[in-house]
Amino acid sequence: MRKKRGLKYSLDKQFLINEYNNKNKSLTQISKELKIPFATLYHYFRNIFHIPIRSIVINWRLKEILTKEFLIQEYVIKKRIMRDIAKELKCSVVPIRKYLKLYNVPIRKEVWNKNLTKETDERVAKYGRSGSKTLKGTRTGKNSPSFGIAPTEETRRKISLSKGGTGIPYEYTEYGSEFDSDLKEQVRLRDRYKCRICGCSQLENGQQLDCHHIDYNKKNTTLKNLVALCVSCHRKTNSNRQHWLSYFCKLVLSK
Ligand SMILES: [Zn+2]
Repeated sequence: MRKKRGLKYSLDKQFLINEYNNKNKSLTQISKELKIPFATLYHYFRNIFHIPIRSIVINWRLKEILTKEFLIQEYVIKKRIMRDIAKELKCSVVPIRKYLKLYNVPIRKEVWNKNLTKETDERVAKYGRSGSKTLKGTRTGKNSPSFGIAPTEETRRKISLSKGGTGIPYEYTEYGSEFDSDLKEQVRLRDRYKCRICGCSQLENGQQLDCHHIDYNKKNTTLKNLVALCVSCHRKTNSNRQHWLSYFCKLVLSK
């Protein structure tokens, strides 16, 4: 038997109907005003007082509209972005994304300021077309909330783990003495002076190619553990380490 939830709050049905339907307040708004959790209020509406909830009506409407044909037409053929479709349907991009996934439609990356102009969006008006950089930059470097604060041991441990390390900070950051320019040149020569990820040449790279340690252990300087990379690809290998590890393992083995 299902356990019945205790009725902790004495709520009046007529009062709720008045707030919700006549004053047109949202559930969130009412829950804030009454200082009761949203989920509790939702439970009262749905299961105790049986008051029809608007969002459910909206969800039902969306389900009717967001058919495969509709999404293929708007998203794939007309190449509209999710945000525009969402705006038209007066919903968020979440359901759109959900249904696209459901129908196995590949989802394109969306840039936040695409198709927006100074006239239609206040952020573009404020930051300009290259606003994404400005927006990003507002919390990096000097403006970062952690600027000037040394990371704690715990944070360092987490950073190490998140990068695929063992949790001991800086354990592999010391280069061995044998990792010198001769060795690096051997690696570049073996890789024919081309980046092993994007294939760009040393000339295109604008400087000597970097030598990347496949297993991220800077002490492991066998030729097998080193590949030549351009600056931009080398930067990429800092994150998503498991991916790059298996990528290079396959690459070297198939050589
Ligand atoms: Zn590259």
